[in-house]
Amino acid sequence: MARRKKIYEGKAKILYEGPEPGTIVQYFKDDATAFNAEKKDVIEGKGVLNNRLSEFFMTGLNHIGVPTHFLKRLNMREQLVRACEIVPLEVIVRNFAAGTMSKRLGIEEGTQLPRPIVEYCYKDDGLGDPLVTDEHIAAFGWASQQDMDDILSLALRVNDYMSGLMYGVGIKLVDFKIEIGRVYDGDFQRLIIADEISPDSCRLWDMESGQKLDKDVFRRDLGNLTDAYSEVARRLGVMPKSAPVTKPTLIN
Ligand code: 5GP
Repeated sequence: MARRKKIYEGKAKILYEGPEPGTIVQYFKDDATAFNAEKKDVIEGKGVLNNRLSEFFMTGLNHIGVPTHFLKRLNMREQLVRACEIVPLEVIVRNFAAGTMSKRLGIEEGTQLPRPIVEYCYKDDGLGDPLVTDEHIAAFGWASQQDMDDILSLALRVNDYMSGLMYGVGIKLVDFKIEIGRVYDGDFQRLIIADEISPDSCRLWDMESGQKLDKDVFRRDLGNLTDAYSEVARRLGVMPKSAPVTKPTLIN
């Protein structure tokens, strides 16, 4: 049997060539990293949960007309996605102050922001993904003005969708990061949501208790990460209510 071709291996995922041109198989690993990979661990079940949760969010976005790279889930750890050219930016949307924004601006974590704030970081691990402005993005040609208008609109639509979904299950969407892909249809290009949307890339706080249900549990040593992600999956109906938390059983 022929071995499939690995295209890229990142901190949390591996990309393989897909079965048809223009497709990619995205494999979710159990590896967890934080602080630019200074802190590392393997957390059993994380990849399975993120595969399923990212499928859930991206399918919902596709249904409301926000285009994503997601095509279909293949198995517990893999999904088929559309190949795209990744725009070298991390797009962060914040509803409440936390993390680097709190540090940078001295705003207490949990403070509600006057409106959602969108930030851009240049995707470069060696530099620690530095914050950049529209000026850097335009001057260095990472995205055009039209792209930036589309990216802002996509980011805010994802925020509206995800905030509402989370609010419905008693979770506050504090902030999140998305990545954007460029696809070509003949002479035209358009932008789609790529990579993943999961508790690895969002801050999710229980509305009542403030309990963290996201990767900060790992970053800040606050408990069991799989339990936190399983709780999100259970509330969204992606996992049965009775399932044991340490060995995630997912609803098909
Ligand atoms: P902060 O800038 O406060 O560290 O992160 C803001 C939000 O973006 C958080 O939800 C965080 O999880 C997400 N985020 C920022 N950078 C990365 C990254 O490199 N990888 C992942 N998975 N999420 C990120």
